Amino acid sequence: MSRQPPVTSRRDFLRYLSFAGGSLAVGDMGALFKFKDSATPEMVGDILKQRIKGRLVKDHLLVEEFKTDFGRTIHKEPRLIVVPENDEDIRIIFQVAEKYQVPVSLRGAGHTCYGQSLSDGGILLVNNRENPDIAMEGDQVSVHSSTQWFALERKLNEQGLTSPVLTDYLNLTLGGTLSVGGYGLRSFQYGAQVDNISELELLLPDGSRMRCSPQENSDLFRYSLCGLGQLGFISKVKIKPIQYRQFTSVFYVLCTSVKDFIKGVKAILHPDFIREIDHFSSYWLNGSFIIEIGKSFSEENKTEQEALKKKVQSQIAFYKNAVIKDYHLYLHKVRENWVERYGISHHIWEDYIFGIEELEEFLNRAITTTKISHFQNILPALYIVACDTAETGGIPFSPTYGSTSKMVYSVGFYYMVKYGDKKQLQTAEDHHKQYMRNCLDLKGRPYLYGWHGLSEEQKKQFYGADYLKLKALKKQYDPQNILNPGVFVENV
Ligand SMILES: Cc1cc2nc3c(=O)[nH]c(=O)nc-3n(C[C@H](O)[C@H](O)[C@H](O)COP(=O)(O)OP(=O)(O)OC[C@H]3O[C@@H](n4cnc5c(N)ncnc54)[C@H](O)[C@@H]3O)c2cc1C
Repeated sequence: MSRQPPVTSRRDFLRYLSFAGGSLAVGDMGALFKFKDSATPEMVGDILKQRIKGRLVKDHLLVEEFKTDFGRTIHKEPRLIVVPENDEDIRIIFQVAEKYQVPVSLRGAGHTCYGQSLSDGGILLVNNRENPDIAMEGDQVSVHSSTQWFALERKLNEQGLTSPVLTDYLNLTLGGTLSVGGYGLRSFQYGAQVDNISELELLLPDGSRMRCSPQENSDLFRYSLCGLGQLGFISKVKIKPIQYRQFTSVFYVLCTSVKDFIKGVKAILHPDFIREIDHFSSYWLNGSFIIEIGKSFSEENKTEQEALKKKVQSQIAFYKNAVIKDYHLYLHKVRENWVERYGISHHIWEDYIFGIEELEEFLNRAITTTKISHFQNILPALYIVACDTAETGGIPFSPTYGSTSKMVYSVGFYYMVKYGDKKQLQTAEDHHKQYMRNCLDLKGRPYLYGWHGLSEEQKKQFYGADYLKLKALKKQYDPQNILNPGVFVENV
């Protein structure tokens, strides 16, 4: 579910379950336990209990929850679940894990869809704290990766600031989105969240701490961002916030075909018009596309808003215009409510990234070959955002990396399948396999938080030399393959 089952409170978790109709997804049994013998987990648990300030999770409801992620298609069973209190705890966990050769898997808010935040028989380290760790340092904000974007946004808004890029749904941790990318309504101006990180601290599996930036330990910087926790634990990061404007004038544009939609996008993101707006997103719903564009204002200034309206009108026809206060927080609520409507479901979500011409071809194939309109019972929406590649910062596993197009588009296919409906689940997975083949064929890229099902061969095809480089870095910094084994890099 999109609502977070907090890691600390059984009461809240019970409330979450009762909201979800009381049914609980029970994990597949028979996880591959990787401890050397059956006595080791208990011994490691005892050592950690004595040495760390944080705690081990024993509550069986939470334990069940941590056996799966948002996707609810993959189930794995951790032997120990640890909620660290601070980075010193994490250093100790890494040291103990190395000593006893126990794998450690990292989890933020667990909103992956392909088991990327699960542990198969090792230690699951849950880095999702309710108390935000945020400090202003000059014009930058220093934040711990355990902080959720919602908490950071609230804090920044109090000071008239906002993060340059926010995901639509905000109960995601900084560590989690920075390990995959992080795209939103302002990505067409600011790139991804990873492109707005000036510095980060990385805790390596040997317990050492590295300061990384484009200038310092740059390989670790470039490969840990969007790196699915393959090299180290991202601790604190620095971001430069921008000015917050509380009121957003939003325009809604309806397009009834792919052709119409692409034409509309080209008109809106045309170099002569693009500076007039500061928000862009779009949806495919019930067979039509809706483009949402907007501009934010510090105050409700009718004259400025009317002037904007005229400019938009002269560029594109819209069917509705509304002024929305705290648009990102509003959007978060909308997205949360939308996901919650589906209760406990399998979420077979994945996004694919292309230039505009390839996007058109990709959408045409989805509509004509896969006939997505026939599957609206399990595919209620597609979601499309744009990203300016001139703003992107050389992060090899970022979905926008290597594109020759100035503007790229991420299109998410969000299948929602009733829990346990194996036939529909198979349909959704088959569709994604086809999309992935089309993605490869059209030289796009997948977004690695999602249900990607990539084979080793496909990883090499998508990422080429960068995949080999990531493997080499993993061998160097995590020679025993302790951290997030099996999540992405294979055959280290
Ligand atoms: C409802 C919903 C809405 C979404 N909206 C958007 C959107 O608008 N834009 C967008 O770009 N994405 C979106 N996503 C995708 C989202 O960005 C990713 O799923 C993201 O990984 C979620 O963060 P998390 O805290 O849940 O991370 P998790 O799922 O817990 O972890 C993600 C990966 O990062 C690793 N990891 C976690 N923390 C750390 C750390 N501190 N150091 C190193 N590795 C770490 C984990 O091991 C895992 O491999 C959405 C997903 C959902 C389910």
